[in-house]
Amino acid sequence: MAKKKRKLRVEFRKNREKRARRGDLTRRAVDSLEQPAAPDDFDARESLSGKGALSRRRTVIGTEDEAGVVRDVDLSKCLSGRVLSSRGLHSLVRGDDGARYDCTVRRVLRTMSRDERNAVVTGDIVLFQPGGEGQGVIERVEPRSGTISRTSKGREHVIVANVDQVLIVGSAGEPALKANLIDRFLVSAGKGNVRAVVCVNKVDLTEPAGLVSIAGIYGRLGCEVVFASATQGAGIGRLRALLKNRQTVLAGQSGVGKSSLLNAIEPSLELAVSSVSEWTQKGRHTTRAATLIELGAGGWVVDTPGIRQLDLWDVSPEEVEGHFVEFRPFVTLCRFPDCTHTHETGCGVQQAVARDMITRMRYESYVRMIEGD
Ligand code: GDP
Ligand code: ZN
Repeated sequence: MAKKKRKLRVEFRKNREKRARRGDLTRRAVDSLEQPAAPDDFDARESLSGKGALSRRRTVIGTEDEAGVVRDVDLSKCLSGRVLSSRGLHSLVRGDDGARYDCTVRRVLRTMSRDERNAVVTGDIVLFQPGGEGQGVIERVEPRSGTISRTSKGREHVIVANVDQVLIVGSAGEPALKANLIDRFLVSAGKGNVRAVVCVNKVDLTEPAGLVSIAGIYGRLGCEVVFASATQGAGIGRLRALLKNRQTVLAGQSGVGKSSLLNAIEPSLELAVSSVSEWTQKGRHTTRAATLIELGAGGWVVDTPGIRQLDLWDVSPEEVEGHFVEFRPFVTLCRFPDCTHTHETGCGVQQAVARDMITRMRYESYVRMIEGD
């Protein structure tokens, strides 16, 4: 969709005021007449226009997109950058100049965001105005794609933005490969509409013959499948190539070797990890904060302790079927349109399983998922 640049009248919510009900424009206009909002330091540079109620709105020159309003900024004073970590209203940004900036968020952005905590999140691409001593102010957040969010109390909280693939890691042994966990993450990736790469680590612990069926199952689904050994270096070059210039989130149970793989892929990583985590440790809510790890060859890996274990995106039971791509041709054969492919008679999917057209292992993952194990 082409973006249209125009003058926008932006209705502002007053400082420290509780959010008015959505769509209640009259009420908000009356409120602002009765009690004009005093501009604070941050707002002082935004231009005011009009009279009366309208003067409580600010006019900004901006572009409009699905996300609402994005302010246009004096580009000559700004740097583009990537948010490595974000906590409260502070973000650590890596500028395109290679330096790191401790940034605050321009109030106008926070006010326009539907949820202040989501104004700027890890992974965002931002325009910011550098100040002295590694400080900066974020002026604009580029539209997001591939967001990972957590919903709490009915509100969506974005944890990471602009993820474009999931690296699903399992291990050939210690712990044993859990195919149903891989399938879960595949559904999550499908729901998030991002590419999935399946990596089976610790291949040094098993015979190649035992891995052929895994290669077949996931290869046929159209996934990249990489067999690796972080300790012996197998598959590392291939992983490096698959991660290059992408923003990747790691998924997989603990102990499969995710950290070891990252260290093998990026030998200088230990340095990068510690410098980011030192910064994160300044605050209290450190354990949940997502951080980005920069790869030397280009690209980013999202390190989010919580996400490694959890489902990446919420998927309802009814949605699961659609993400088992190999079921699709057979679903149309089911006698009942609302067939769940578990107990029904005349089920195309179950018949396909009986004839080995659908792998039993994948089918069992499906059943576990919709039964909510
Ligand atoms: P994470 O929890 O997924 O980050 O896993 P770690 O990277 O911490 O690795 C867990 C354990 O598996 C460690 O003891 C590693 O030394 C071991 N490990 C990692 N990769 C391999 C591998 O390719 N082969 C073998 N045999 N052990 C590995
Ligand atoms: Zn069916």
